[in-house]
Formats: sequence, structure tokens, C-alpha cells
Amino acid sequence: MSAADPAPAEDFATAVLDWFERHGRHDLPWQHPATPYRVWISEVMLQQTQVSTVIPYFERFLARFPDVESLAAADRDDVLAHWAGLGYYARARNLHRCARMLVSQHNGEFPHALDDVAALPGIGRSTAGAILSLSRNAPHAILDGNVKRVLARYYAVPGWPGQTAVARRLWTLSEAVTPRRRARDFNQAMMDLGATVCNRQPQCQRCPLRSDCRGLAEGDPTVYPGRRPRRQKPLRQTTMLIIHGHGGILLERRPDTGIWAGLWSLPEATGDPETWAREQLGAGIQLLEESPATLRHEFTHFSLEIQPVRGRLMDETVVADNDRLWYDPLSDEAPGLPAPVHRLIHQKEPSE
Ligand code: SF4
Repeated sequence: MSAADPAPAEDFATAVLDWFERHGRHDLPWQHPATPYRVWISEVMLQQTQVSTVIPYFERFLARFPDVESLAAADRDDVLAHWAGLGYYARARNLHRCARMLVSQHNGEFPHALDDVAALPGIGRSTAGAILSLSRNAPHAILDGNVKRVLARYYAVPGWPGQTAVARRLWTLSEAVTPRRRARDFNQAMMDLGATVCNRQPQCQRCPLRSDCRGLAEGDPTVYPGRRPRRQKPLRQTTMLIIHGHGGILLERRPDTGIWAGLWSLPEATGDPETWAREQLGAGIQLLEESPATLRHEFTHFSLEIQPVRGRLMDETVVADNDRLWYDPLSDEAPGLPAPVHRLIHQKEPSE
């Protein structure tokens, strides 16, 4: 066998597990205790976010919603408020729906069958495998971003994993190397290896797989996994109004579909802000000079350019209702605000 030939599956697993004993992460908050509920919340938070960012969110979320029942019984606004800042809010809405489904259909417990878990809202095959293996040591493979990267490099799998054929090949490899008896440790080890060694700039000299890694033997493992084919993201532009009145700033609840669905946000004006205020609020606004600078926010499929305009309500007739509130950034507890809106609101207040 040459240096570029992958090791048999058992040797691969042994090398990774040995490395895990000494260098893996054993003290993550969701590992103690690693209940299905705690693992599930952490896995969903970790889908787009790094461990160090997730930890304080996880602890705050668990303090407020310690179990499936408390999450299922919560108001959606409360769940979104505890998610605010993590982005990708569909994840929080799905968590809430999933908790309600677990309570109404599964006695508040996660099912044992992989397919039943993968059928729950917001849980795909890899997250289902992670929940069941990390909490119950069930023998399921996973394929999150870290595992994809390690396997694609080690086996020199060409192509972008977003393509079905590439994903299918990586799933086959992941299932082949995952040991049935120690799926819990192995899956955690692969995630740790991908996050701390085989990351954007792989530190191959520290890697337990280096002697057989085909990507390394080829000279540049970073060509794997293949990149998503490039396409220009469209640019959308909007004007957001920071309207001062009633001792706070006017917020509106976003519709239930589209970006930031269900979160609180600044009103968006189409056309002239003063006309918009007269038509939508039935009140005039006086534009102020101290508007914050334009802000750009990147979504997966488009970029959003926000032009903030600051104004003051001329008469205080606009009242709060279910979909409107006056938020005092200095004293009120923050409702669920998208990160760029939070940034705009907490910039300098106008001088009186
Ligand atoms: S040897 Fe390098 S490229 Fe190969 S799996 Fe290890 S860290 Fe990744």
C-alpha cells in the first residue's frame, strides 16, 4: 500500500479514536449531560455557527428552556428573542415546531428510529444521526461540514458536496468508517478533527490520518472539498426608518414568511419616508440629520443594502399593537431583533 492509499475502515476509526482520547473536546456544555434534547439544541445552533460563539447562546437558551416541554410551551417571540444574534431564524422556528411535535406525538421524547427523527422539522439525516449517536451511542454516521471536509480530503473526493452524487459518495464513506460500537466518540472525534486540525488551513503534521491521506499526498488537500460553482449574488436595497417617539423607537413585526420572518424590525419605507409615514402611520415625521451609514448584510442568496433614515414622530398618536411596539433601547429587554437591525438601533441616538 502506498502512502496515498486510504487505510482500511477499522484503521481509520482507530487512528481517529486514539487521537480523540488525547486531543478531542470532552467538556462541551451539551456533553454533560448529553441528553437528546441538549444535543439537538447544540447541533441546530452549530449548523451555521462555531462552537465558541454557540456556547453562551446554548447556556442562555437552556436556562430559559431546560427541556422539550418548556420549549413547546413557550411563545414563539420568546424563542426568537433567545435566538436573536445567531441568524438563520428558520432554525429557531423549526426548533419550536419540532418541540411541539415531540410533545404532541412522541410523549416529549425523541424517537429511536433514525428515519423518525429525520422526519421532524429542521432535522436532516446528519443532525438525526448526531442526536442519536451523541446522546445514545446509536450506530449512525453523520455528514456535517467538518466530516465532509475530512473525508473529501482524505479520500480525495472531487466535486462540490452540494451535488447529489458527491454527497452520496461522502455518505457511503462516512458509513464505512463509522464504527458501530463507538459511534458517539467517533462522530464527536470527526467533528473535532475537522474543526481543530483539518480546517480551512489544515495542520496535517498534527493529524492522525496524515500517513494515508490522499489529498495530502497529492500536494494540496485544500482543493477538497470542491467549491460551490460561483454565481453573482443579487443586491437588494431597502430604506429602514428609525422613528423616535413615545420614548423609544418604532418596531414592526415582520411577516411570517420571507427574511427574518416573525422577528421585530425597523419599518421599511418604499418611496419617500415622510409620505410613507403619513400613509402608513397617519402621522408626520421630521427627518433628522444624524442617520447612521448604509449597512450591508449578506444572506446566502443575496446581499441586502440598508439605507437607514432617522426621523422623529411629529404627533404621538401612533400607538402600539400586536405588530407594532415602541422599544426603548436603554431600558427595555430586547425583543427578537435581526443582527443588522440591532446594530442600527444601538448606534448613536440623536441629540435633543
Ligand atoms: S492529513 Fe491534512 S488534509 Fe488529510 S485529513 Fe489530516 S489534516 Fe486533513
